Amino acid sequence: MKKCSRCKVVFHNEERQRCLYCDAFLNDVDEDDTDEDILQHQPVGNIIEKVLKEKRALSHESMQYLIGCYFHTRTFNFLYSFSRNEFKMGKDYRRPLVQPLSISSVLTLPWIVVILVDSLIFRIFYSSYCPECQWKYSLILSGGAHKREDCEYHKEYMNLIKEILSGRILKTEKALWDAASEKVKAGQRSAYYDLCLRENKYEGALDVACIWFSCGFLMYVIVVFTFPIMLKGVLLLQL
Ligand SMILES: [Zn+2]
Ligand SMILES: [Zn+2]
Repeated sequence: MKKCSRCKVVFHNEERQRCLYCDAFLNDVDEDDTDEDILQHQPVGNIIEKVLKEKRALSHESMQYLIGCYFHTRTFNFLYSFSRNEFKMGKDYRRPLVQPLSISSVLTLPWIVVILVDSLIFRIFYSSYCPECQWKYSLILSGGAHKREDCEYHKEYMNLIKEILSGRILKTEKALWDAASEKVKAGQRSAYYDLCLRENKYEGALDVACIWFSCGFLMYVIVVFTFPIMLKGVLLLQL
């Protein structure tokens, strides 16, 4: 087992090198002493503290943060993919848009367009529901039927998210990884495997470009709207 000396949390996956929550290197330990007492006296950050101790319902942003912590990425594309999959879960729509907008969305203007257009398309296509995996799905996009392989993939994905958000992943990580590896060896798709080994070479650069574009566009709008007013003021002062 591995233990984080900062968070005092024990990880059961021997292959894990760094702490999920603070990214510190882990030490080898023989016993799991991550009990409630330790967690109560050693807070490991606001969100994981909430998850492990209070078991309260998390906001969408908190869920994104925790999932991002687990997979060591917080690119816009990764977070949007998570929001989209989470939006598919359950029969009803929990919110109007695939991903909720916030004040910080003004720094990601291209994503606002994606969110608005995709939310509309989503509601048109994803009109079917599978009671077994409890996901919405599109009959058109899945070729006229909900495939068994997709159903299993959804169940694995939902279980994985529940494990991460509940904090149980600390103990079940190795078993989940072994099951995912077995699936891949058998030629099947695995949600855990896909999420852990996804390529994100260009996502960081795209995020930076997206923020620069948004800042530039906002500056342009501000100048276009305020420049004539300022010019008018200067001319009035000169008269
Ligand atoms: Zn840590
Ligand atoms: Zn299903």
